Amino acid sequence: MYIPYGRQSVNDNDIQAVTEVLKSDFLTTGPKVAEFEYCVAKYTNTRYAVAVSNGTAALHAACFAAGIGPGDEVITTPITFAASANCVLYCGGTPVFADINPKTYNISPEAIEEKITSRTKAVIPVHFTGQACEMDEIRRIAKRYGLIVIEDGAHALGAEYKGDKIGGLSEMTTFSFHPVKHITTGEGGMILTNDEELYKKLSLFRTHGITRNPDFMTENQGDWYYEQLDLGYNYRISDIQCALGISQMQRLPEFLKKRRKIAAVYNKAFRDTEGILIPEQAEGTLNSWHLYVIQVIGGDRKEVFDRLRRQGVGVNVHYIPVYKHPYYQKNGYSQVYCKNAEEIYGRMISLPIYPDLTEEEQEYVIERVKEAVRG
Ligand SMILES: *Cc1c(COP(=O)(O)O)cnc(C)c1O
Repeated sequence: MYIPYGRQSVNDNDIQAVTEVLKSDFLTTGPKVAEFEYCVAKYTNTRYAVAVSNGTAALHAACFAAGIGPGDEVITTPITFAASANCVLYCGGTPVFADINPKTYNISPEAIEEKITSRTKAVIPVHFTGQACEMDEIRRIAKRYGLIVIEDGAHALGAEYKGDKIGGLSEMTTFSFHPVKHITTGEGGMILTNDEELYKKLSLFRTHGITRNPDFMTENQGDWYYEQLDLGYNYRISDIQCALGISQMQRLPEFLKKRRKIAAVYNKAFRDTEGILIPEQAEGTLNSWHLYVIQVIGGDRKEVFDRLRRQGVGVNVHYIPVYKHPYYQKNGYSQVYCKNAEEIYGRMISLPIYPDLTEEEQEYVIERVKEAVRG
């Protein structure tokens, strides 16, 4: 038996949706891309959406649209996947790491404020595990210092902050549709925005900066004519992928319900277990539970981790503080120290959580975890 920490759920309807596209006229950019964008924009109550090839491309596009360039500093959290900081480097900017709140593991607004300089241009808060960051405080700071907010919502499709779905609260929000995330397109990503100008930039960036829209072109020589207005990439997503995404969006409420149920069962099982800290939830947040992360206290994390892996429990660790990676250490980050992030990183373990995890499997995980922390 091997129980992974996360995995996709694909049913016969999903498969049929993809098969239909394979028999249609469009394999890549066709009607399914716009339909998928519409589904996610509507669900998150946001005006515009641009679907791209993956979540990292979505972050890159967002940094481009925000105008990040050489000399600009962008503040993000160390407890995230490397993409949240790499996207700043792609644009020639400098990621700056601000420490986390030790209760929620999300970036701390006070730590953000301490890191602001005259070069700071944007903030990339990450809704870690699917628990919303303190967005009121972050937006207040952003307003005071004139910063753009790009939310990395890769964990947070379906998460809520004070009753609003994550997606339309900031200048831009990005999502990922990698198979371990809430819905999948195989590979895929999306940027959500309410700003028409940003929407135009994001759309251009997806296809080399090329447009055929006469309203945007400097001239029009004929029906064959198009113009490259900026340097973009090929970050397109296919109709095949978006058909899967549309089908998965219909299942999202069911996925969220299941993830929340699994989290509740873990909470109940571990609330009074010595040696384990369960994830605290801040007031006003409704977690979408991409990850369920415990802290192993009083025991050795590596021993617990290795033992669980040997027993077929596919635990993981999210995340190694980004600046600790050799690439960052070699490139100017060797003196960075975020105390809370490093301490908590040393105690974290992610337990299996995904819609098709059965009650029996979860019971097995709970028993093995309890044994492992007892030593
Ligand atoms: C998954 C993830 C990404 C990147 O998404 P991809 O689709 O894998 O490129 C970015 N940020 C966070 C926090 C993620 O978990």
